[in-house]
Amino acid sequence: MSATRVLVLNSGSSSVKYQLLDMRDSSRLAMGLVERIGEEGSRLRHTPQGGGSREWTGPIADHDAALKAVAEELSKDGLGLDSPELAAIGHRVVHGGKTFTEPTVIDEAVLAEIERLIPVAPLHNPANLTGIRTARALRPDLPQVAVFDTAFHTTMPESAARYAIDVETADAHRIRRYGFHGTSHAYVSRATAKLLGKAPEEVNVIVLHLGNGASASAVRGGRCVDTSMGLTPLEGLVMGTRSGDMDPAVIFHLMRVGKMSTDEIDTLLNKKSGLIGLCGDNDMREIRRRVDEGDEQAKLAFDIYIHRLKKYIGAYYAVLGRVDAIAFTAGVGENAARVREAAVAGLESLGLAVDDALNAVRSDEPRLISPADARVAVAVVPTDEELEIATQAYALVEEEKATEQ
Ligand code: ADP
Repeated sequence: MSATRVLVLNSGSSSVKYQLLDMRDSSRLAMGLVERIGEEGSRLRHTPQGGGSREWTGPIADHDAALKAVAEELSKDGLGLDSPELAAIGHRVVHGGKTFTEPTVIDEAVLAEIERLIPVAPLHNPANLTGIRTARALRPDLPQVAVFDTAFHTTMPESAARYAIDVETADAHRIRRYGFHGTSHAYVSRATAKLLGKAPEEVNVIVLHLGNGASASAVRGGRCVDTSMGLTPLEGLVMGTRSGDMDPAVIFHLMRVGKMSTDEIDTLLNKKSGLIGLCGDNDMREIRRRVDEGDEQAKLAFDIYIHRLKKYIGAYYAVLGRVDAIAFTAGVGENAARVREAAVAGLESLGLAVDDALNAVRSDEPRLISPADARVAVAVVPTDEELEIATQAYALVEEEKATEQ
């Protein structure tokens, strides 16, 4: 029997999220999270298929200990990492630079290149590397595949990927627009085409990934042509705690007049801005509750969020020329009907509208929320980054097996 399981690992600096999937039917055999690695109060929460979570609290010193604890939990369900049914481990890697345009089987050269990209992803790539090295040590014989957050965006034309700054300086420091959330944009744009009963090559889609981090992308015939995040995930939409777009001179002003340090400004723009900076809350549920109670500050935060979103819809409409669908995804996009309604309000002349009854439906399934006669489909498409990573990793491993034979 051939191996059909893929373990997906998403390694952060102090956490590891994991899912074990069976690619025969894309079912989730187990999932879980290790938190506070190397800190006080480390814990592991493991949920096997069918529910019944198990929680374990105790010292977990490093990623090696974390992964061993995960392996032990999986073994209890008869799903150990030593199982011959495990086909691959798929790793989420945040930054693949210009180098990695596709999922890639990991070897020493790939590890070295991910390491070389650390200056453009200082927070994420080191943690991803630690996760990969630990997993390789546990199962050196098993194919391990890196799936990059940036890969889907490498098809952007230079006109969209370059900033209008001195070319030599930009190239010397590898400054360009890379984009993030690519795995989600890839999955959702394809799922949207499927929902329309078409092939990805046939449709142009604007994907709005609205979670705590948020990004938009313009996808023409299955290929990304523009996205709102740039060199880092700070550019673009208003997010939970990040400012998104702003005049870069604000930074000089804060340095010269506000006497703030580089690190203070970094923290301000990444952690204390966006919705939380505007109104003190970054959870859209809480913001809507406050708006409904007449809270002016929350209303202004909501309005700024929507204004930016609408600007990107308009911009990507112009970039694509013809739009077949707009897809909302991630925590806010999948759940906040009021955000979806407000984002397309007044855009009837672009063929955009939502049907109130359809928009109010709560479901985990991809669905259309535009009126039946709408020129442009508006859709809610739940994202599934783990399934996409597993699908890409499995396809690559199967392809390699086929060429070896
Ligand atoms: P991330 O993966 O970026 O951490 P998610 O995609 O899980 O984020 O989205 C988290 C956000 O989704 C929350 O901060 C909250 O604002 C929003 N959210 C979750 N559920 C709801 C809901 N029922 N209604 C409105 N917003 C929601």
